[in-house]
Amino acid sequence: MNQIEIKGRLAPSPTGALHFGNIRTFMVAWLMLRSRGGRVVMRIEDLDHPKNKPGAVAAMIDDLRWLGFDWDEGYGCGDSDAEYVQSNRMDIYERALHKLKSAGLVYPCTCSRRDIEAGLSAPHSDECLYYGGTCRGQFNDFESARSTMPQNRIPAWRFRVTEGEVVDFTDGFHGAYTQVPSEVSGDFVLARHPQGAGYMLAVVVDDDAMGINQVVRGDDLLSATPRHILIYRALGLNPPEYFHLPLVVGPDGRRLAKRHGDTRVARYREAGMKPQRIIGALAASCGWARHDEELSLAAVLTRFDFASIPHAPFIWRDDILKRTDVHSPPY
Ligand code: GLU
Repeated sequence: MNQIEIKGRLAPSPTGALHFGNIRTFMVAWLMLRSRGGRVVMRIEDLDHPKNKPGAVAAMIDDLRWLGFDWDEGYGCGDSDAEYVQSNRMDIYERALHKLKSAGLVYPCTCSRRDIEAGLSAPHSDECLYYGGTCRGQFNDFESARSTMPQNRIPAWRFRVTEGEVVDFTDGFHGAYTQVPSEVSGDFVLARHPQGAGYMLAVVVDDDAMGINQVVRGDDLLSATPRHILIYRALGLNPPEYFHLPLVVGPDGRRLAKRHGDTRVARYREAGMKPQRIIGALAASCGWARHDEELSLAAVLTRFDFASIPHAPFIWRDDILKRTDVHSPPY
């Protein structure tokens, strides 16, 4: 019997440096794949242009290698680097967009965030702004929509959500998850680019094109997954298996960010910390090590147990990496 190879990806966005929030998720993603004989792909998700930082790709790759990560395919594996950088894959997104356009499933939208907020009676979450479909059926094409807007703005492409369509799937970490996107997001933004290059469309198109069948990522994306699944359905593709992991948060319970201080891997690396200390602390956060253990990623692989990962968010504190028995730089 032919067994299907498990294939997953590390998909960093070069919007900043690698920090404790993203490496914990990458670590579990890598361990999940390696422990099941899977193949690891490295993809660079650089479509969020205003936020991309120069030099961030090279720095992230370097930090990941220093931490002990390896991968079998994608960016950093040789000649085909460019094929695994999203900004080089515009024609692939455009073809997918064309398919959705032909099926009448996308339309250009000229509404600004402020317009949408103003039209909502109920409060909304920042993560997902419900859209009532104001621009549905308004414009024949992108250019006619654009001509109604100020010079410095362009329309977004929205995906037309079918009223009442239910999406349910089993998340490998959270379990059963059900959502009716027409009640949660309404028609959602696929991309803010004339050719369809944007996170929502690109992540689906790339995961399919690269044969990804296992996606391990932060659970901030759990509620967006039904929208990804609608895109898979619309393109006639099969979604991967999903595992959404709890995020790393600061002591205030909010997602780890600059306000919690400098949690960049590079900061600890520059200060002389060993990668095994960082990996050891992250392994401890998943229940696989004592807090003061130093472990290589390869050593953690022998202890990997998906079932012991806590369901609560991991609270990062600045003293997590402190050791009393070795000379420590002043963290
Ligand atoms: N590039 C995204 C990030 O860095 C990951 C998106 C995904 O895994 O779907 O957060």
